[in-house]
Amino acid sequence: MSEGIVSTITYEFEFQAAHQLHWHQGPCRSMHGHSYRCELTFGGDLDANGVIVDFDVVAVFVESTLMACLDHTYLNDVLDNPTAERIAAFIFTLVADTPLPVEAVRLWETRTSSALVRRA
Ligand SMILES: [Zn+2]
Repeated sequence: MSEGIVSTITYEFEFQAAHQLHWHQGPCRSMHGHSYRCELTFGGDLDANGVIVDFDVVAVFVESTLMACLDHTYLNDVLDNPTAERIAAFIFTLVADTPLPVEAVRLWETRTSSALVRRA
């Protein structure tokens, strides 16, 4: 369409989960929960319909795969040492295993703190 510009789209979802960081010297050493907010960013060329990927396709993947394995779980049962960085990387890997053109995953653990994972 236009030379010299690139587009990305971002799909955001939220899940609730508990975790515990055994190495932490502060309150995160105890089991506690977060309302995690996750942003999935996709990039690439627009298809014949003018989209990078249909938001509905992303929504189905999020519900069937990501929510199914993360929502209302004890994250230490899903992966070791579930820091925001490691949870974001775990989500990135799950999305990257699909044809969806993921560029980045940002995981907000609190209103002020997030981890960003993208291809190196
Ligand atoms: Zn925490």
